Amino acid sequence: MPSAALTANQLNFSGGPGALPEAVLAEVKEAIEAVPGVGLSILGISHRSDWFAGVIAELQANIRTLLGLPDDYQVLFLQGGATQQFSMLPMSLLAGSPTPADYLLTGYWSGKALPEARRQGPVRVVWSGEREGFCRLPRDEELQFANDAPYFHYVSNETVEGLQFHRVPGRDEVPRICDMSSDFLSRSGDYGRFAMIYAHAQKNLGPAGVTVVVLREDLLRDAPDDLPGFLDYRAQIAARSIYNTPPVFAIYVVLLVTRWLLREIGGLAQMEAINRQKAERLYACLDGSEGFYRGHAAVPDRSWMNVAFRLPSPALEARFLAAAKAAGLSGLEGHRSIGGLRASLYNGLSLAAVQRLVEFMEDFRRHQAGRR
Ligand SMILES: *Cc1c(COP(=O)(O)O)cnc(C)c1O
Repeated sequence: MPSAALTANQLNFSGGPGALPEAVLAEVKEAIEAVPGVGLSILGISHRSDWFAGVIAELQANIRTLLGLPDDYQVLFLQGGATQQFSMLPMSLLAGSPTPADYLLTGYWSGKALPEARRQGPVRVVWSGEREGFCRLPRDEELQFANDAPYFHYVSNETVEGLQFHRVPGRDEVPRICDMSSDFLSRSGDYGRFAMIYAHAQKNLGPAGVTVVVLREDLLRDAPDDLPGFLDYRAQIAARSIYNTPPVFAIYVVLLVTRWLLREIGGLAQMEAINRQKAERLYACLDGSEGFYRGHAAVPDRSWMNVAFRLPSPALEARFLAAAKAAGLSGLEGHRSIGGLRASLYNGLSLAAVQRLVEFMEDFRRHQAGRR
């Protein structure tokens, strides 16, 4: 088998599933044949094996270390994606509540979480960016939080619009719950200020199939007793994330990514420095383009993970995408809900890859100027 035929020849700028580090992909390739020390393919190892119990324990420990979590947090690996968390969390924390939960409506994904919460109990929208076309995030002065909300929910990085909080909103007195699906483990922070964080793997951590849930145990004190077992965090905690057959492969890849973050990158502060540099490089290209490339997000709220932008016309955008593909730059089309273009710069995408994109964009612009 000529292995060159298997080598990817496109860089992956897709919004999700996203790029994985090359070093991790090489280990995955090996594990598909045989996991070192086990002698079986990762696709056929029992979730009841001692080896897999070790995978779960090491991955939990790695996530605790990376986030700097205190001991009273649980780390779970669940299925159903972030979308299942949109329902699972209000089923436990909102059903039967006399007071509404506070939600921010800042873009496409927070807009998906909201109606699912409303099915379970009362919800109050603290702020909405909908009328402005989700092009910015709220300032602190615009936010008035309730003291008696069962929790406050927001999305740290709006993947579609490319908006990212560069601070932690909310009051520490009310449990803060965050969907970090598209920026989990991308930067350092004070993660002990969150009562719960959830993030599926397929943007920044690994393949689809597993969702990481980090939660403080006291949050579940008043959860109803009649939840389906699969949807009850307490049952998942008791089963150590092996309530039923888990996605062993996806969980193993996430373990490899956390090892890479700890051993190769050196932790979240170092990952943040790299991600910041990548984003600055690309935004400098937009800002230096004399309006040819127009960013979607307000400057203070620009995402380091997803850069949404437009060209002067849809025809030029189509030409850009075709030329990018031919140049080995894949996944640059914007989300179907807003169109335009989007470059996603997840952890696995290197600075060199961003540099290649920027060079392509500068060439493309020069070439268009020459046509006029
Ligand atoms: C992609 C995305 C989701 C949807 O996740 P699924 O795993 O497909 O359910 C939810 N939230 C955010 C922030 C996302 O980027």
